[in-house]
Amino acid sequence: MIEIHQGDITTLPVDAIVNAANHSLLGGGGVDGAIHRAAGPQLREFNQTLGGCMTGEARISPGFNLPARHIISTVGPVWRDGMQGEPRLLENAYRNVLELALQHGICSIAFPAISTGVYGYPKQAAARVALGVMREYEARFERIIAVCHSAEDADLYRRTLAGLLEE
Ligand code: ADP
Repeated sequence: MIEIHQGDITTLPVDAIVNAANHSLLGGGGVDGAIHRAAGPQLREFNQTLGGCMTGEARISPGFNLPARHIISTVGPVWRDGMQGEPRLLENAYRNVLELALQHGICSIAFPAISTGVYGYPKQAAARVALGVMREYEARFERIIAVCHSAEDADLYRRTLAGLLEE
């Protein structure tokens, strides 16, 4: 079962939390800023060795000061008009994170709503992509947690998941 959790992803004691990072992997705003602050400056130092990350790809780091053991960073697409491959790129981001997690023996993983902040992806459409890919992989993990920052976003996720289960 996919769990929907409202709150701050940096507090979760899971095998891996996912970061909605930018190409540099060196920190930014939103959830990325929160993860870098909570993990500590070693995350930036470590990520300097990774050589960046393209949209839809994923990279793994230790969790440093986080309760999570690992951080898997990915870069979601910036939303333009939906005709620039955004859905496929967002799907790739979720899929490549989950594949990398499997390669590293990760059993519990928590995701933020990738691309739905400053990158401007419409929240409902992004939730369908996110939960759709999570469902494909749920049997291969002990826990997949979709973390929503606001109560409103958590509501949207619950309704979207219920819709997917009916299909
Ligand atoms: P992007 O650049 O991919 O759009 P953002 O960080 O701007 O990334 O936003 C992605 C999502 O992360 C947004 O829905 C935002 O509400 C959420 N978010 C921001 N801070 C946190 C946090 N500490 N824990 C979980 N989710 C968060």
